[in-house]
Amino acid sequence: MARKIPIRTCIGCRERKEKKALIRLVKGEEGIEIDPTGKKAGRGFYLCPRRECIDKLNLKNLSHALRAEVREEELKKLKEVLGSYVESQEKEVNNV
Ligand SMILES: [Zn+2]
Repeated sequence: MARKIPIRTCIGCRERKEKKALIRLVKGEEGIEIDPTGKKAGRGFYLCPRRECIDKLNLKNLSHALRAEVREEELKKLKEVLGSYVESQEKEVNNV
């Protein structure tokens, strides 16, 4: 029996990828946050850890993914958080 690999869709590029290759984001009480463990409760969505996909985030696809209205400030903050997250990941890779 083949093991089932969980596949999720990136809301930026709409590509289907292995869940572990994507960043999970969750809308919590504090706003939208990165969920590195993939275990936080709440409505989540997935995104590739790369700038192109972060840039593709907009109020429309975000609101659709979360089934809730997303404010301009939330989008802006999320992009900043994701930008530095991806940057720190890149640094880690380069330090090896
Ligand atoms: Zn993507």
